[in-house]
Amino acid sequence: MRVLGNASLIDGDVPMTYAGQAHFGLSGPTDKRCADCASFEPNRQLRLDIGTCKKFYDLTSKKGSEFPESAFACKYFEPKP
Ligand code: SF4
Repeated sequence: MRVLGNASLIDGDVPMTYAGQAHFGLSGPTDKRCADCASFEPNRQLRLDIGTCKKFYDLTSKKGSEFPESAFACKYFEPKP
């Protein structure tokens, strides 16, 4: 899992953006995580806390890397219906 940047928060260094995200973490609503987004597709076979981003695929026509559902939301965040 490749981390593209870090944000120093009160709890310490927290990964801000992962490879496979459609845009930079924290460029969307700051109180939301990818797990809350309609574009997040969890990997139900291996682990429940990682998955891929459908919006990444829509933008690049490539399947992106898996990343944690706890990743900070990006500007393409859309709430789950
Ligand atoms: S907030 Fe949604 S669109 Fe953005 S990276 Fe996370 S799952 Fe993808």
